[in-house]
Amino acid sequence: MTTEKESASKPLDFIRQIITEDLASGKHQTIVTRFPPEPNGFLHIGHAKSICLNFGVAVENNATCHLRFDDTNPDKESTEYVESIKRDVRWLGFDWGPHLYYASDYFDQLHDFAIELIKIGKAYVCHLSGEETRAYRGTLTEPGKESPYRHRTVEENLALFVQMRNGDFEEGTCVLRAKIDMASPNIVLRDPVLYRILKSSHHRTGDKWCIYPMYDFTHCLSDMLEGITHSLCTLEFENNRALYDWVLDTLHTPNHPRQIEFARLNINYTVTSKRKLLQLVTEGHVSGWDDPRMLTISGLRRRGYTPAAIRSFCSTIGIGKRESWIDMGVLENAVRDDLNQAARRVFGVLDPLKIVITNYPEGQTEEVIAQNHPQNPAMGERLVPFSREVYIEQSDFMENAPKKFFRLSVGREVRLRYAYLITCQEVIKDDQGKVVELRCTYDPASQGGSAPDGRKVKGTIHWVSAPHVLRAEVRLYDRLFTAEYPDADKEKSFKDFLNPDSLTALADCMLEPGLAQAHSDDRFQFERLGYFCLDPVASTPEKPVFNRIVTLRDSWAKLNESHE
Ligand code: ATP
Ligand code: MG
Repeated sequence: MTTEKESASKPLDFIRQIITEDLASGKHQTIVTRFPPEPNGFLHIGHAKSICLNFGVAVENNATCHLRFDDTNPDKESTEYVESIKRDVRWLGFDWGPHLYYASDYFDQLHDFAIELIKIGKAYVCHLSGEETRAYRGTLTEPGKESPYRHRTVEENLALFVQMRNGDFEEGTCVLRAKIDMASPNIVLRDPVLYRILKSSHHRTGDKWCIYPMYDFTHCLSDMLEGITHSLCTLEFENNRALYDWVLDTLHTPNHPRQIEFARLNINYTVTSKRKLLQLVTEGHVSGWDDPRMLTISGLRRRGYTPAAIRSFCSTIGIGKRESWIDMGVLENAVRDDLNQAARRVFGVLDPLKIVITNYPEGQTEEVIAQNHPQNPAMGERLVPFSREVYIEQSDFMENAPKKFFRLSVGREVRLRYAYLITCQEVIKDDQGKVVELRCTYDPASQGGSAPDGRKVKGTIHWVSAPHVLRAEVRLYDRLFTAEYPDADKEKSFKDFLNPDSLTALADCMLEPGLAQAHSDDRFQFERLGYFCLDPVASTPEKPVFNRIVTLRDSWAKLNESHE
């Protein structure tokens, strides 16, 4: 496959520059990258940035990218998450080939490395409680204090580590720590924990282990064991790089991957943290990880986003070294651009108002020719049934319409796209005065929608033939949060900013009959309304459900403009 590689005019980002230089100088003959998710939740749009970077540079350099599960925390991980992550990476268009790995596959080797560190006097078993450890650690301005257990003999440490491993100690009673420097200005280096006791079953190793290695110890060694050349991670690991390098240097490993940090993706009006997304799921604020309002990969997929749109978005935002916020509109524009090219145009009426064309023969049906993509004739035409009764949008009729209202009102003429010109003659209301039906006449000579005498008819509206409709539920989405930075308020929870109107389900919409054949991979533009797709989860054979992927224009930008 091709990735949405930077266009020729766009300079390489700093990571691609480093890689290009490393290949040019001969430092590396080829490169190896990895995407290392922890299987403790579903992937989100932030992960897509990392996936597109790691797999992207591999594809561009004809090299390999590994998928490695960083599964060192059995309490929070599961096979369900592993499977969802594999599905999502594949769906985004990337392939790890035979290079699927698990940190848990290295548990034996990691254990051996820990013993080696103990043997060279660089690791010790410490019995300080969690609270004491924190107190001993010091602060940014004060050095830490050495643990009273720091100067145990190698033999003592080896024996205690065997006991830890054998399950002789309870959880939380001791840990294995690296012996580095309690006075280091970098707190990460103040004798970090390497192993802790967890008497939990692991989704892959079962009950084999009751001690588990910490992230910082596991990650660098896993990278090293796999021959990773460039270990790309987000900026919050900048301080951890010193520890990454310390472990590999101290163990004199045969190769030493280079860790490079880049800015994580932050998008406004959402949260991108698995922990927070998990809360939304478990507390029922959304219907699941794949709720179409969630910026998880599975939510975006169900909503109708295309892999190409997400890759294009990641390419647009680029890779930098400074934290920044990306406007949600940038993501929405990426899918809009993609679908504008690719999506077939169809008719759907979301808020139906019935029209009876009184001078059209009763019982007659004809088929009008409609373009599938007016700007792209190659996408062909389709036949749409037309009859005496059609539905239009409520909003396309106005009783006391101002002059500039170019749609339907009593005495005014409008074009039913691809069909005929109609003129509204009469309004029918119910007991409450609500408009429930319009009586119109049509001009039989205006077939296709053009006036025979060249008279000007400004308004063109969409419609569906009443006896032929496909009835469907249509779901419209708004942003999940009302606040631009939902987790910025320290006094409040991000959940206080959930948008109560983020989902509008329209139960009885009228769609053109051809949509009965819609497949879950198809995306459509409902003319004038936005881009839509079949919801593969909520649809039933009796009642299809369509999601609005995105509106036609950035309604938020328009809103902001009108405030200016
Ligand atoms: P979260 O904060 O959502 O829990 P995480 O960093 O704990 O994410 P991991 O499974 O450890 O999730 O992430 C796998 C990879 O994805 C890491 O290399 C991480 O740096 C990267 N990643 C996670 N979130 C983002 C983001 N918002 N932008 C870019 N990369 C990200
Ligand atoms: Mg993480």
